[in-house]
Amino acid sequence: MPRALICGGGVAGLSSALHLKKHGWDIQIFEKDSELRTAGVGLNIWPNGVRVLKGLGLGEEFLSFAGAMERWWALDSDGTVTSDIDVSTWPQELSAPITGARRRRLNAMLADALEDGDIIFNTTAQSYTQTAEDVTVHFADGGSETGDLLLGTEGIGSKIRNQMLGGPPEFTDEGFVRWRGVFECAAAGVSTDVQADVYGANGHFGWIPIDATHAYWYGTLGGLSTFEEFRNEYNTWSSTPVPKIIAVSEPESILGREITHYKNHLPQWVDGRVALVGDSAHPMYPGMAQGANQALIDGQTLAQYLDDHPTVQEALHQFEKERMPVANKMVEYSRLHFSFEQTREEYRTAGSNLQIDRYMEFEN
Ligand SMILES: Cc1cc2nc3c(=O)[nH]c(=O)nc-3n(C[C@H](O)[C@H](O)[C@H](O)COP(=O)(O)OP(=O)(O)OC[C@H]3O[C@@H](n4cnc5c(N)ncnc54)[C@H](O)[C@@H]3O)c2cc1C
Repeated sequence: MPRALICGGGVAGLSSALHLKKHGWDIQIFEKDSELRTAGVGLNIWPNGVRVLKGLGLGEEFLSFAGAMERWWALDSDGTVTSDIDVSTWPQELSAPITGARRRRLNAMLADALEDGDIIFNTTAQSYTQTAEDVTVHFADGGSETGDLLLGTEGIGSKIRNQMLGGPPEFTDEGFVRWRGVFECAAAGVSTDVQADVYGANGHFGWIPIDATHAYWYGTLGGLSTFEEFRNEYNTWSSTPVPKIIAVSEPESILGREITHYKNHLPQWVDGRVALVGDSAHPMYPGMAQGANQALIDGQTLAQYLDDHPTVQEALHQFEKERMPVANKMVEYSRLHFSFEQTREEYRTAGSNLQIDRYMEFEN
């Protein structure tokens, strides 16, 4: 049985492992932390991601705890509704709903579908060596493991990527801080099956239901960083639900994090028997809410190509050729949604939801 070494136990590593197992691979995940990632509040999982989960036999379980949307609003910060889209037909049209879920629930579900011993914690991948016959990953503690395939799924700080490229890539430094928190929908007077985005002159605020009672909000305002600054600015958006949502948020859930991605697309994702998957290959601003969805698709595509090609190297080459242009286009769209002033103007005049319009290009 061929053996895959997977460095990083996030959405990309866990889902790639499940796909590879389904295709007859022996897998081992090496995770640097002592437990699965719990940080990060919620994730929008779109029909493209839900379909991957369904393919893994996890669709029903996922939908039992995720929030599924019926409508998606876009508002101006002055309270004007710029679009109100019915997404309740997506399960029929796209074979899956658009959903929101707690990140830790998604990761726990993926990990539970693996077997005991599939994940080794407290193990930090540092570098790799390879021959025509196999590949070896070297760990920070001096240990190593050898297999047929190595996946760098360690996210934006990937060491496997650094070695592949001969050093770290350049990162964006635009000072965008993303604040987020969790609130009870009833307390804020918002529905549990509507997700919404509000666009102002220098920023954005959105919320997504993540289960039957709660939603998660996220907001970025260009040039601001502390929570007090954010709250003061958002309190001026008084014709929208935004001030109330922030006021009723669970205080311990409120987190701020600077977000970044690569200044340029990576020149390569593959080196012989080694491939980058998920954020290590294509981190993206959360503008399209697609990073985890694209990571789920990466793993599915990769496992299929390994079946379809006679050698690991040929399969990885095809994976890079096929997935790179698609994921990179999503990176560009995600970035576009962080040109706030422009986005606000576009929403005012478009009369449609640009995020949905752009997503639909990937469904066609
Ligand atoms: C604020 C915010 C909101 C977002 N919202 C959405 C959304 O709504 N929908 C969506 O689809 N995406 C969203 N994303 C993007 C999404 O979070 C990422 O695309 C996704 O988590 C990528 O998964 P990953 O497994 O590639 O990386 P990660 O989730 O970063 O996982 C990497 C794992 O590797 C481990 N690791 C790191 N280094 C090493 C090492 N050297 N050796 C071993 N293990 C290592 C880490 O501990 C971690 O467990 C959002 C991102 C942010 C920042």
